[in-house]
Amino acid sequence: MKIPCEVIKDLLPLYYDKVCSKESCLLIEEHVNQCPQCADELQKLKTGLEKSSVLEGDVKAMKRISAAWKKDKIVAFTRGAMLISALAAMICFISYHIIGVEVLPDGRLVEPFALLPIGYLFVIVFMVSTICNFIFLRKRKKNAK
Ligand SMILES: [Zn+2]
Repeated sequence: MKIPCEVIKDLLPLYYDKVCSKESCLLIEEHVNQCPQCADELQKLKTGLEKSSVLEGDVKAMKRISAAWKKDKIVAFTRGAMLISALAAMICFISYHIIGVEVLPDGRLVEPFALLPIGYLFVIVFMVSTICNFIFLRKRKKNAK
């Protein structure tokens, strides 16, 4: 059965989207196998759709934006860590001074809730996050140039 190429070309998008009936699919496949022109048309449809759905420029721009966003997230994270650790260290030291150190009659030092070591731990976290933040910001400035 010979179908005109024009009819096949009209049906190719339906065939590509797999929305035509089984009979139509078989007819199109049969025709495409024998007709290089229509096979070419189907190939064009496949590659054309793939290209138009995600343009290369768009992908690159999206990658750049997502990379910048990721860096912003890291900077925001280190900034948050700085703020929280500084605040936590301050709370530790202030509450340590409010509660005070108790010296037992036998000379033992009683520290409330080990606030000092925790406070210093937060100081260390603060310093590390400050350094990280500084490094990331410098890296970002270098990339921006
Ligand atoms: Zn044909």
